[in-house]
Amino acid sequence: MSVISSCSPNIVVVGGGIVGASIAWHLAARNANVTIVAEDFGGTATPNSFAWINAAYGNPKFYYDLRYRSMARWRTLGDELLPGLPLHWGGSLNWGMSPEELEEYQKQHSSWGYDITRMEQSEIRGREPAFVDDALPKWGWGLYAGEEGAVEAADAAHHFIADAEARGARVLPAEVTGFVKKGNRISGVAIASGEEVHAHHIVLAAGLGSVPLLATEGITLPVTSKAGLLIHTKPTGPLLNGVTYAEELHLRQKLDGRILVGTDFAGGDPGPHPQKTAEELLLS
Ligand SMILES: Cc1cc2nc3c(=O)[nH]c(=O)nc-3n(C[C@H](O)[C@H](O)[C@H](O)COP(=O)(O)OP(=O)(O)OC[C@H]3O[C@@H](n4cnc5c(N)ncnc54)[C@H](O)[C@@H]3O)c2cc1C
Repeated sequence: MSVISSCSPNIVVVGGGIVGASIAWHLAARNANVTIVAEDFGGTATPNSFAWINAAYGNPKFYYDLRYRSMARWRTLGDELLPGLPLHWGGSLNWGMSPEELEEYQKQHSSWGYDITRMEQSEIRGREPAFVDDALPKWGWGLYAGEEGAVEAADAAHHFIADAEARGARVLPAEVTGFVKKGNRISGVAIASGEEVHAHHIVLAAGLGSVPLLATEGITLPVTSKAGLLIHTKPTGPLLNGVTYAEELHLRQKLDGRILVGTDFAGGDPGPHPQKTAEELLLS
């Protein structure tokens, strides 16, 4: 067994999805000595994300505040700190709830300072001319949130990692199998080759992979996975301007021209023939 070590304080980040990549970049940008270890750079959930940047409905104020700060951080990152991040700020249209729920959502979020306005059907048609009339809200209006956007999350993760590496971070493709301990303190991670990577601090950002890793220390992380349906079309010319959250689906156009369509953020069984389910949904 060999030991990889460094005499200066160092940090190991486990996970190369959007969370691990962002943490590693932020640490490297502050001149920390970072090693990022992951099986799949770009992530596992990350490339399958709808990746809508928003602080929309359904959360208590403290969590809204966190999400709103995160939106502002994406702006700063894209505009100033890491230009080239694949971000798209096109706002969002929403009529994916009942009119009463939309009214409640607008009232609450407006009182919190969110830029959210009512948009009549004719204005929606103007913003998203590709929608056929049947797709528009039956009750004649929706909400428009102008500050929202989207990120091509896996590309962004690669971008963070490449820039962190350029700033001196070490990138190690490997499976972490457990933790190394010194007394009662975690002092590193063990990787599948049998090597140990020692560090002063370990950041576990391995998504679902954090569950079995923490289980080796008797810690239960209450995270589970669920099947879901996310559809990518072939690339097409510019069709959609922003995110739309409609009654039965949400959709946006990716920067590479593909339309991304989802049905339920909480997941949902696409059935035994996901391709057929996807085609039926797109034709409905
Ligand atoms: C369908 C869908 C839609 C979503 N929509 C949105 C949305 O609109 N807006 C939004 O903000 N969020 C959305 N999310 C959530 C968001 O995408 C995830 O929270 C995010 O991508 C999680 O990133 P992550 O880096 O934590 O995990 P992951 O992307 O899963 O990355 C985990 C990383 O850990 C590594 N790893 C795991 N185990 C090990 C191990 N033992 N050793 C080494 N490496 C390991 C993997 O290789 C990978 O690099 C959505 C998610 C899904 C699935």
